[in-house]
Amino acid sequence: MFDLERITRENIKGLVPYSSARDEFSGEAKVFLDANENSLGSPLPKWYNRYPDPHQLKVKEAISTIKGIASEHIFLGNGSDECIDLLFRCFCEPKIDNVVICPPTYGMYGVSANINNVEVRKAPLTEDFQLDLTHLENLVDAQTRIVWICSPNNPTGNCFNRTDIEAVLNNFNGIVVIDEAYINFARQKSFIQDLADYPNLVVMQTFSKAWGLAALRLGMAFASVSIIDVLNKVKPPYNINQVSQELALRALEEVGQVNDMIREIVDMRNALSEVFERIPTVEKVYPSDANFILVKIKEARMVYDFLLTKGIVVRDRSNVRLCEDCLRITVGTEKENTMLIDAIGDWLSGKQLEDLTVV
Ligand code: PMP
Repeated sequence: MFDLERITRENIKGLVPYSSARDEFSGEAKVFLDANENSLGSPLPKWYNRYPDPHQLKVKEAISTIKGIASEHIFLGNGSDECIDLLFRCFCEPKIDNVVICPPTYGMYGVSANINNVEVRKAPLTEDFQLDLTHLENLVDAQTRIVWICSPNNPTGNCFNRTDIEAVLNNFNGIVVIDEAYINFARQKSFIQDLADYPNLVVMQTFSKAWGLAALRLGMAFASVSIIDVLNKVKPPYNINQVSQELALRALEEVGQVNDMIREIVDMRNALSEVFERIPTVEKVYPSDANFILVKIKEARMVYDFLLTKGIVVRDRSNVRLCEDCLRITVGTEKENTMLIDAIGDWLSGKQLEDLTVV
């Protein structure tokens, strides 16, 4: 049985959170002399002299409408990376507790664990980049607090089998984080609608990928009200700045445009995959449910260096276990994708690729 009390760190259970000026007063007033702001204003035309809403209520309401999840199930972080760090700080006792990750996967789970002095146990993916449930289960002990699952996974690009994720959710009595940063590009549906079934589930999504707003630093965590309450207690009071809140609100009115971009990126991803499959030195293009593809190519490091000479930077993953000789390539604009393919053509002396086009 999942017991949030059991896995919440003692110091966090007893924590009296910081109470900001904006926590203690949130109604209408004419004169604000409560937060030591600059009452004269700022060099900018807007009310940027005021602290932002610490609870980001308007942004959460807009997200709630789009996702069909009540606001009290939503936590906003300064990027998903802040959510990751907070989950460690709330639920993992340094030097005592441990977490399980499934490499190759997103690097911040391990880095955040190290920063927080929490042991990382690794259940590597199988050869076909799926969860190794037996290994995972063997790693779990009484001190295991979080299992990190990234689906669609970075850098492999695929979703994990839904039934495997469900097995972890059903059998592990700590928190299961499903990082769905790339879910909008996937065929599989989000776990966000399954929150009611799993009290131990945290789903993370972000504005950095499909929404095209990596610069705003806005990440979302969806979970039970009690998990969200713990995260809220620990987060810095004004972790989402005013500009990000305003711009996110504006972007949230443009779901249609975002959906158009998603469709375009998925089409270009599929076209790019097909082109790469026809390149003679490409050994494999892994199926992708994300906005990037993972390509196994002969002399990957040399291809990477050659692309750099052309001003094109991709991600070299050839030193990562199970991704030997692999490059991770983000889907670009049509023009950028063509430049990439042309550059690969140059790498192969242009002989084999003369008739290759992206779309
Ligand atoms: N999760 C995954 C799987 C990612 O690949 C990334 C960014 N590369 C993040 C989270 C970080 O997202 P954010 O920009 O919201 O911190």
